[in-house]
Amino acid sequence: MRKTLYIIGLSTLVFSCASQKNVKKNTYQPKTPVVQPKTVVKTQTQEAQKPKVVSDHGVDFFTTNIADPAKNDNTASYGSIVSAKPAGFKVVKTYFPAMAQNFRQRYLILHYTVLPDDKSITVLTQPGVSAHYLVNNTGDNEIYQLVDENKRAYHAGVSAWRADKNINDTSIGIEIVNPGFTNDATGKRVFVPFSDAQIRKVAALAKDIVTRYQIPATNVLGHADIAPTRKQDPGPMFPWKKLYDEYQIGMWYDEGLKSDYQEIAQADFATKYIDSTFIFSVQTALQKFGYGIELSGKWDDATKKTIEAFQYHFRPQNFDGIMDAETFAILQALNVKYSIK
Ligand SMILES: [Zn+2]
Repeated sequence: MRKTLYIIGLSTLVFSCASQKNVKKNTYQPKTPVVQPKTVVKTQTQEAQKPKVVSDHGVDFFTTNIADPAKNDNTASYGSIVSAKPAGFKVVKTYFPAMAQNFRQRYLILHYTVLPDDKSITVLTQPGVSAHYLVNNTGDNEIYQLVDENKRAYHAGVSAWRADKNINDTSIGIEIVNPGFTNDATGKRVFVPFSDAQIRKVAALAKDIVTRYQIPATNVLGHADIAPTRKQDPGPMFPWKKLYDEYQIGMWYDEGLKSDYQEIAQADFATKYIDSTFIFSVQTALQKFGYGIELSGKWDDATKKTIEAFQYHFRPQNFDGIMDAETFAILQALNVKYSIK
């Protein structure tokens, strides 16, 4: 009898929880939009504060954003909503936006095509390789979209950054039309500059993408950064500093901190250079910054290529793949500024 009462009691509890759920549904108040249009008046009804959904050609879109970007709270956002359409039932998108969600798009990766405009389009629309966007070099104001941002493009290949691997899964890829490099008589790589028009396009596009997806500065990278033993792009001609200075995109070091570290680094540098302890500390610093590098304690080929990739990005005046006091100082300054919390 007592057991029966217990079961009744338990089922009452379950039922009352379910009832509460129903009550909650009826009284649910969605979060207030972070940025309210100036025309919104305070007498706005709660109903009006729910994320609005419109349909166009069978596709639903949110027209308001109720997320708090300061908290990386991507509860709901502008853009298309991909959801099921189960036969005979209604999927409601605006009642219960969950807190625990974020964007799949967490990286922005830049490339060059090593091909002219027409061949870039041909190659990037064939099986096997693609990118979300292609920035041409024809001088017009168009940027080509080849892949939906919600879908995966094949641009990164085997890749790693910090704890992440297979960066295709979590990135937006931008290809820039550029021939890459040729080798001069001494075997040194000679890279071709990007046009100003291309850089303006890349900057505007990158700004839009990192803002919408709240992509952190540490995740705006070149292909060479995430695959340093295989890739060089977008190479030393890509103006990362200009993007940082003029558009607040990506990472750059503080000059004062770099100078301080350089003074320390260059003392007795030649002696340190051949010491395996120093090589370990360089490899550890590169790994801490984000590069997928093994701590071998030797200036092996993979380490040299990783240093070269770092120089393409942060010390493009000299990209010989040899660690010097300035390169090491820049690496240390970046590790202070962009340390993993
Ligand atoms: Zn690439």
